[in-house]
Amino acid sequence: MEVWNALERLTSEQGPSGFEGSVARTARELLAPLVDETWLDAMGNVLGVRRCGRENARRLLLDAHLDEIGLIVTGHEEGFLRFAPIGGVDPRMLPDQEVRVLTDPPLLGVVTCLPPHVQSAGDQDKAMAADKLYIDVGLSQAQAEERVPVGTPVTYRRGCFPLGEGRVCGKSLDDRACFAALLLCAQALQKAPLDVDVYFMGSTREEVSGAGALCGTFAVRPDWCVAVDVTHGETPDVRDPKGRVMALGAGPAIGVGPNMTPWMTCRMQKKAEAMGIPYQMEVMAGDTGTNAWGMQVSREGVATAVVSLPLRYMHTPVEVIDKTDLERLAQLLRAFALDLGKEAEAVC
Ligand SMILES: [Zn+2]
Repeated sequence: MEVWNALERLTSEQGPSGFEGSVARTARELLAPLVDETWLDAMGNVLGVRRCGRENARRLLLDAHLDEIGLIVTGHEEGFLRFAPIGGVDPRMLPDQEVRVLTDPPLLGVVTCLPPHVQSAGDQDKAMAADKLYIDVGLSQAQAEERVPVGTPVTYRRGCFPLGEGRVCGKSLDDRACFAALLLCAQALQKAPLDVDVYFMGSTREEVSGAGALCGTFAVRPDWCVAVDVTHGETPDVRDPKGRVMALGAGPAIGVGPNMTPWMTCRMQKKAEAMGIPYQMEVMAGDTGTNAWGMQVSREGVATAVVSLPLRYMHTPVEVIDKTDLERLAQLLRAFALDLGKEAEAVC
């Protein structure tokens, strides 16, 4: 498995929350050669396990979500499609976007926008509300009604591409870049001796409810879980003294706060230090906005960690990550998994 090819394949699949079928199939294909067994569950989650070979071994679950934000068609007007957002879509980002309408076969479309010449006074100062926008698919009303049923999902058109030497830009890097890191971790663990079973989950519906990870975690019944997701990357216009943005290229961000189990956070830091993996600390004072919020309270509660990949321009078609951050994230997860059974009870 070559991780950058894998990431390109994952991001070129369409999978808005609730409609992850094709990206889940691709994710499973990529994961299958790296683990002992893979399966899809009723929520559409992809799961795989690398067994350590011991009876009744304890279980570590690593999760990254496969779904992406998107749109869903709600009606037709003069051939244009009305839509509603799926997940945290920023309406300011929508006008003039190229989109893929997920009919079979898919249709290309563009989100409508008003040129400056025909805007009214004050229009330029405010964002258009999503319910004032349409998708233009170049069809008549009758064609649009026939070819694009209400309920059809829509995604941003682009996949991903290299940006400069060491960065990747594209849609759905949130959170498929982290699933790619899970693949890299699975590959690195292939020949390593384990003392726990390691489960890998590509979960669904994170952008709307976290329902995929909730159910997947319940089924796996892990002793420990790690939510692997993206966090906000720094840019010149966002230098936040409150520490809510993380630098690109400075390593993965280890979360600390009430959504994590303190010894899990501490062990993650110690492993990074022992391996010489650069990392950043991210204070997450409440709900982390990740699958960890639901995974932590699965069944009688699960020891939880959150590790994040810094990413710029979240929830746009031009999200940016640094390749070394992804590689170091995979190395950190590998280091965390090794000897976990033996060391879990040790005071960190
Ligand atoms: Zn995410």
